[in-house]
Amino acid sequence: MSVKSLNHIGIAVRSIDEQRAFYESALGLEFEGFEDVPSQKVRVAFFRAGNVRIELLEPTEPESTVAKFIEKRGEGLHHLAYTVEDLQTRIDELKQSGLKMIDDQPRTGAHHMQIAFVHPKSSFGVLTELCEPSPQK
Ligand code: ZN
Repeated sequence: MSVKSLNHIGIAVRSIDEQRAFYESALGLEFEGFEDVPSQKVRVAFFRAGNVRIELLEPTEPESTVAKFIEKRGEGLHHLAYTVEDLQTRIDELKQSGLKMIDDQPRTGAHHMQIAFVHPKSSFGVLTELCEPSPQK
């Protein structure tokens, strides 16, 4: 297993609108756009910070895992996402090494990336996402 780079940092927020000015105006990060990710019941806003994106995750439904996260732990740092190649192979390697995965198979996340989450019990409390950018972009 070897990670290519840090892809993005996910931050759980109640309202993107409320926080957008902080990232865009105060910090001066380039706003890249919104995206709805129905599979995770979130609306996402992306900001670019060099080679890394900041991903604000706003729950669209109360049963979204992000909504539950905010209820339990408040707004703030939610996950780190690393770029990998051959995601399914990486998932299989991690499982063989004894780690628990939330996703045994890649699913489609924002930016049409294939993503999979490592279970926080296997990543020492830091929710960890592996993502494989789609070949066309
Ligand atoms: Zn993410």
